Amino acid sequence: MAEVHEIGKARRGKCPNCGKQTEPDYRPFCSARCKTIDLGKWVTGSYRIPTDEVPEESDMEALLRDREDER
Ligand SMILES: [Zn+2]
Repeated sequence: MAEVHEIGKARRGKCPNCGKQTEPDYRPFCSARCKTIDLGKWVTGSYRIPTDEVPEESDMEALLRDREDER
């Protein structure tokens, strides 16, 4: 049985920000909002994202764990 390591495929279907099902338009996120929030995590300090919805700390921890598993 061939094992395929395709990160894009393996991670499809779940929004890394909130865990909801992804939308094709916003892959790998479920919405433009989550995409913006995730983007904001990496550019924090550079500029502010005009959103008052921030991910909960527990979500962030889960996300970080998730990314570590990916290595
Ligand atoms: Zn989401």
